[in-house]
Amino acid sequence: MATATMSPTTDFIAREDAWGAHNYHPLDLVIAEAKGAWVTDVEGNRYLDCLSAYSAVNQGHCHPRLLRTLVEQASRVTLTSRAFRNDQLGGFCEDLAQLCGMEMVLPMNTGAEAVETAIKAARRWGYRTKGIPDGQAQIIAFENNFHGRTTTIVGFSSEPAYRAQFGPFAPGFVLVPFGDLDAVRRAMNANTCAVLIEPIQCEAGVLMPPDGFLPALSALCAEQQVLLMADEIQTGLGRTGTLFACDHEGVTPDVYILGKALSGGFYPVSAVVSRREVLEVFGPGSHGSTFGGNPLGCAVAREAMRVLHDEALVERSATEGAWLLEQLRTLRHPAIKAVRGRGLMCAIELHEAARPYCEALQTRGVLCKETHSTVIRLSPPLVVAHDDLVWAVEQLRAVFDEQDR
Ligand SMILES: *Cc1c(COP(=O)(O)O)cnc(C)c1O
Repeated sequence: MATATMSPTTDFIAREDAWGAHNYHPLDLVIAEAKGAWVTDVEGNRYLDCLSAYSAVNQGHCHPRLLRTLVEQASRVTLTSRAFRNDQLGGFCEDLAQLCGMEMVLPMNTGAEAVETAIKAARRWGYRTKGIPDGQAQIIAFENNFHGRTTTIVGFSSEPAYRAQFGPFAPGFVLVPFGDLDAVRRAMNANTCAVLIEPIQCEAGVLMPPDGFLPALSALCAEQQVLLMADEIQTGLGRTGTLFACDHEGVTPDVYILGKALSGGFYPVSAVVSRREVLEVFGPGSHGSTFGGNPLGCAVAREAMRVLHDEALVERSATEGAWLLEQLRTLRHPAIKAVRGRGLMCAIELHEAARPYCEALQTRGVLCKETHSTVIRLSPPLVVAHDDLVWAVEQLRAVFDEQDR
């Protein structure tokens, strides 16, 4: 291929493919700028972002308030490490604990690190509070889970692509079918310290538990003295039309695991939020992270929480999401198997591969990424304008019409 005939897009892709590891299968557009719900590629084409970086940019791309906070904080102090204190950490923990109705916060950076932190907390809590024999703690998780990519976490994944040839894996995890209370009950024993659950399994294809499952699970955990740990990294902070997906069923877990939109896409900030009793198992030296709780991340995350509140993004997610779901339900095409969603986390499940539909949507200016090969997930930033959603539905309709053979 002669360099002279390469488009900017081809050139960027060629360099990424030559020098970067191929651990993703992205759509072939190269984004150079973004604002709100829209992104612009290196050729100047505009697209409506219906993925939102897996719900990390719920507040919209490059939110001006987050940008201002980032720049202001970056010009003061960015990193102290936890060897010293900084003037942002306390306020961040206070705001987040109050948002969650909890007592304590342990900040980390990525989602997977927060999940790892919750696993450590649950095990130590189990040894100290329940008297589980050392090294015997067991955590129940669910089939089709997605909790991140560390070796411990992929060790209890049921997805071969996430696990193959990455073992040996850590013991201490049991998998049961998502939504099967009897299976959870059977899996529980005296060594069970926690149940780890996504209240909606987004990566698995936006799978909802049966009605009543979460409250029953919560009651079972309370009865058996087992921590209910909700991984709300993707579902939390308004994505599903309530602050947390657990709220749909009136459930308060013992532990919230948060990330992604916690910092509105500016900076990786994650956290475990729980009661004092749980997070106090960590004493000095027992856990840590060089960047966890850094002042830059804390400042941005505080502002990101305020933006959610000030712009009523949880409410927007509920109303716009309900409208979008209703529209999606009017789509008629033999390839459509099911349509489901909560808030602005919607999905169209197909009888066939979703990738060609995502590529067709891309040519019409709508960015979606297939999940689990047959599901088109629609999760635009919560700031998306209603008219933009109307337009996106028109593009979806057109794509299904075109694919009608
Ligand atoms: C994205 C995600 C994670 C992992 O977060 P990273 O920041 O990618 O490590 C964990 N759990 C859920 C439910 C997620 O969606």
